[in-house]
Formats: sequence, structure tokens, C-alpha cells
Amino acid sequence: MGVSIRTIVKDNVAIRCDGCRDIIEGTPWRVNVLDIVATERPADWSEQPAINPGPFQFHSDESCVRAWMARRGDLFCRRGRVREIMRPIPIPGDARRWGLCDGLHRDAHEFVPA
Ligand SMILES: [Zn+2]
Ligand SMILES: [Zn+2]
Repeated sequence: MGVSIRTIVKDNVAIRCDGCRDIIEGTPWRVNVLDIVATERPADWSEQPAINPGPFQFHSDESCVRAWMARRGDLFCRRGRVREIMRPIPIPGDARRWGLCDGLHRDAHEFVPA
């Protein structure tokens, strides 16, 4: 009996991966999406935030994060890598899409489908 009770408790607190939806054993990999710093006008409280900043939790596997991006319709900058903090970059000509980049490279972004 003792064993089965412990199992139930563990299942109740299980963290699920935002990418593959499976339970994460151990420490999840947390990814935050930086708020879009207002470039053209100040943020307005009455507006919906454009992006949920997270944190999102994943297995320690880049493919889980990429699967999550793909489901959101985000693009991924292949000049960067999946890191704990991703920056959203507006995609020119497509106001509803974002490209996610770690922002650590100096050359132009190269967005590809995640
Ligand atoms: Zn996963
Ligand atoms: Zn980039």
C-alpha cells in the first residue's frame, strides 16, 4: 500500500513537457520568451499581450522545444540555438508570426520552420 500511495502523490505533482506533453522526470528545462520591448509605441494595458512569456517547461531536449514552436506556428532562427531565454522577432509581412532567436549572434536572422 505504501508504494502505491507514493506513486499517486508523484503523479499528482508531475510536470508535463510543453513540447511532447509527456511527464518530465527530474528537472525541467525552462524556456522564457522575452517580452516584446515596445519598439514603436508604449505598451497599453488594455491590449492583450502578444506573447505568453512563459516559463514553458520541456524535457532537456531541443526537439521538444522545437515541437512546441512548430505547434504555435513560430519560426526558429537557425543562427541561434534553443536557450533559456528566447527573443521574439516579428516576421516581416506576417504580423501573426514570430521568429524565436536567442539573440546572441550579430548577423542577420535566418528563420526556418521549427
Ligand atoms: Zn518533451
Ligand atoms: Zn537570430
